[in-house]
Amino acid sequence: MFVGHYGVSFAARKTAPSVPLWVLFVAVQLLDFVWAPLVLLGIEKVRIVPGITASNPLDLYYMPYTHGLVAALLWSTGAFVVYRLARPRDGRKSALVVAAAVFSHWVLDFVVHRPDLPLYDDTAKVGLGLWNSPALALGLEAALLFGGMWLYLQTGTARRMATAGFCVLMLAIQVYVFFGPPPVSDKAAALTAIAAYIVFAAVTRALERPWRIVTPA
Ligand SMILES: [Zn+2]
Repeated sequence: MFVGHYGVSFAARKTAPSVPLWVLFVAVQLLDFVWAPLVLLGIEKVRIVPGITASNPLDLYYMPYTHGLVAALLWSTGAFVVYRLARPRDGRKSALVVAAAVFSHWVLDFVVHRPDLPLYDDTAKVGLGLWNSPALALGLEAALLFGGMWLYLQTGTARRMATAGFCVLMLAIQVYVFFGPPPVSDKAAALTAIAAYIVFAAVTRALERPWRIVTPA
């Protein structure tokens, strides 16, 4: 799953209004934020196998530290603790929402991945394999993204046009990932993924900042 994760960010922002949207954008991709550097370091492993699923060429054959079920629960717990320490005045509920956002990554990956998500260590791998039905997988990504966005727009503080335009752009990138050429290497896949996540989080940070209108003197 790629942009569909952000549907959870938008929905979580409505549930816990004190949590900045960019924090939730990082939270839902936290497992991948850790995965990318671990792949670059050769600690977790992926290889490009075109056709391994109908819409995604990644053979994610070793990622116990980021995409194991037990690992995901530990990362979620860690996110809870860090958020509590960083923003104690936000309260326990906000930290719980951040932790749930982190864990949602594993749940949504479970739906689309082939059985490459270990329950613990590197064994007992699960995944429902929706990537083998590209139209359904793309439909799910879009439904999650725009469903979450719709909830977020109900908050009243959101910049409607800019947010909607941003979501359309994210979906266009998703279409390219599904139907464009495969990444040239494992490291290229990791680098482009983390670059996209950083840019998306930065854009949402800008979206929620007061925009200064500069008027000529
Ligand atoms: Zn993932």
